[in-house]
Amino acid sequence: MDNYYLMYVNGEFRDTSSGEKITVLNPATEEVVGSCVKATKEEAEEAIQHARIAFDNGSWSGLKASQRASYLYQIADKLEERIDALTKLHVQESGSTIIKAKGEIHSSVRTIRHFAKLCQTDYHYEAITPNEEAISFSYNFIEREPIGVCAGIVPWNFPFSLAIWKIAPALATGNTIIVKPASETPLTMLELAKIVDEVGLPKGVLNIIPGSGAVIGETLAEHPQIDKIAFTGSTVVGKRVMELASTNVKIVTLELGGKSANIILDDANLEVAIDGALFGTFYHSGQVCESGTRLLVQESIYDEVINKLVERAKMIKVGDPFQPQSGMGPVISRKQRDQIEEYIRIGKEEGARLVLGGERPAGSIFEKGFWIMPTIFADVKNDMRIAQEEIFGPVLSVIKFKTDDEAVQIANDTIYGLAGGVWSKNNKRAVSVAKRMRTGTVWINAYHLLADTAPFGGYKQSGIGRELGIQGLLAYTQTKHIHVDLDQSTSRYKILLPEKE
Ligand code: NAD
Repeated sequence: MDNYYLMYVNGEFRDTSSGEKITVLNPATEEVVGSCVKATKEEAEEAIQHARIAFDNGSWSGLKASQRASYLYQIADKLEERIDALTKLHVQESGSTIIKAKGEIHSSVRTIRHFAKLCQTDYHYEAITPNEEAISFSYNFIEREPIGVCAGIVPWNFPFSLAIWKIAPALATGNTIIVKPASETPLTMLELAKIVDEVGLPKGVLNIIPGSGAVIGETLAEHPQIDKIAFTGSTVVGKRVMELASTNVKIVTLELGGKSANIILDDANLEVAIDGALFGTFYHSGQVCESGTRLLVQESIYDEVINKLVERAKMIKVGDPFQPQSGMGPVISRKQRDQIEEYIRIGKEEGARLVLGGERPAGSIFEKGFWIMPTIFADVKNDMRIAQEEIFGPVLSVIKFKTDDEAVQIANDTIYGLAGGVWSKNNKRAVSVAKRMRTGTVWINAYHLLADTAPFGGYKQSGIGRELGIQGLLAYTQTKHIHVDLDQSTSRYKILLPEKE
């Protein structure tokens, strides 16, 4: 694969006029993986104009759904053919373990096919049941139309799938889109651009422009020619995007941070719950927005759970992400590792009991790269910073509770509301707890399981709107009500006009 990648605008691979580059480092080795264009504000504006023209000329929105689906299926097929090369690049640029990286590309292929199938259904049409009290006799229906020019801004933790969650439904429903990848992980997205080019998607329909958040991200969020912005990233930046998007009242979808509660009730199957809780926290080194980083454990099983968590977490193999037996690779960057280490220091200072980890792994392979061991704090109080703030690293905070009501109260005592988990052998009890949790997803006796058919998104400061599922498709449409009058009578206008002689 290339070493220097160009941006993809209006069906062309282009260099930047500024000559500036983004250099991508392998988080496991600190070696240079490759580099790409760092686009300028003017280049972003040009991409927006092309996406606007491509939308307005109907070259995409005017196609039949089956024609748009055919392009999407071709993209999915080509991605599948190149899965090994893409997985390798993904591991190199993101530090993801090979199993996570391959799973992410596979799931992206499935997502594209899912939206290609969905757009060929009658999602765009809905008959409205006539109202018997209505003053007129009419036939009313809803048409779902594409929104127009969309922009997608994505983070580095799932750099491929989170972009596909935006690209696939946007294209399926007839929009055009500009994607800005995170500067840590732009390369796999630029490989996608090559595939899109090969299948001959009409010019300007999909544009990929790497660049800084402050320049390219803000230009996309603010620009009056963009009709919708879909952002995934931190809550702080999400608020800024929302503020900028208000300039032309853009439609905004935000998928933001989290501090999800994973609740182990006293009747849980601990064999499963312990492994599930560790998976819920340490998968992808804890760099997952909906990780269950607050583990709420019922008093009577608390000591047993802590002991078992520590015993099992010691078995997580931290190491070379290319080795299939590695459960955890590095974190994304030096900055991220510094931030995680700062939170570990804060946790100790706040009086939480460090029962595992807290340091970097020892050994020569860890001399380079950004490593940190799985870390568990027990006796955490929910008002501590390590329980309230998103650490985005392999740090678990365990909190004790007495009753189910108290567990729900603690779970909801956060600014976030992305996800959560409940572990119990009693489904009725678990569902009762799940229903009271103010979050967009709750897993019962599982964690981290997402499906193309199920909506994903947050309550409170974890976001606005949903991705995936039919909601994820409709999020790229405008709703139009059409009223067809079947009376054609002048009588209803008499409140304004006299009846004709
Ligand atoms: P981030 O907010 O720093 O960056 C996300 C993206 O926004 C990047 O592409 C970045 O370049 C861009 N950006 C930065 N500043 C910007 C600005 N002023 N205007 C517009 N765009 C800007 O987040 P990150 O560090 O890349 O990712 C980690 C965060 O993402 C965590 O908070 C995590 O919870 C969140 N996240 C949420 C979800 C979800 O679905 N809810 C999924 C993954 C990650």
